[in-house]
Amino acid sequence: MKEELKKLRDEIKRLRELAYKDELTALYNRRGFSEEAKKFLKEIVVFKKDPERRESFIIKNFSIIVFDVDHFKKFNDTYGHQAGDEVLKKISSIMQDSVRDIDLAARWGGEEMVLGLVGASENDAFNIADSIRKRIMHADLVWKRKKLHVTVSGGVAGFDKVDTFDDLFRLADKALYKAKKDGRNI
Ligand code: GH3
Ligand code: MG
Ligand code: MG
Repeated sequence: MKEELKKLRDEIKRLRELAYKDELTALYNRRGFSEEAKKFLKEIVVFKKDPERRESFIIKNFSIIVFDVDHFKKFNDTYGHQAGDEVLKKISSIMQDSVRDIDLAARWGGEEMVLGLVGASENDAFNIADSIRKRIMHADLVWKRKKLHVTVSGGVAGFDKVDTFDDLFRLADKALYKAKKDGRNI
């Protein structure tokens, strides 16, 4: 019976991974990120309604960074899709290495990644985004003995400025759009 239970538990774990993680990068996928982020946001909503009890809330803010690889279509066209996949994996590991365990890292889709920073203000997120952007710009990327370079653009948003998960994303997306318009690698 114990064996059966363990098997069942392992199977549930495997299915959860399939449902919530991205296969290529092992980061959360869109579903996984949304669910985990909303757990944190729920607590902050309660805090917003009762700021007097400030000290009883552990999490008072939550910020996201949306990253999008610059001119990635051209990169794939030049070096091939496989090289592109390696770049996505490298970017993902830089992102994951740059945040704490409690923070959320996800592949939102295609060449767009998201970080959820627990407790971080928009200003904190901005500084973290900038340091990750620089790490990616200087990353050691080699494909078939050739050194490759990629850059990303980012947009940040803090939950103190909005009330819903969707609005948080809209705000970050707007900032990302501006970074692209202003010349990328921003
Ligand atoms: P921009 O700087 O404006 O973001 O330009 P872009 O070329 O990055 O943007 P666009 O949306 O035109 O192209 C995105 C490219 O990302 C096209 C697609 O082939 C590539 N891409 C999306 N998912 C993957 C993937 O899983 N692997 C690889 N190698 N490429 C991917
Ligand atoms: Mg894109
Ligand atoms: Mg892009």
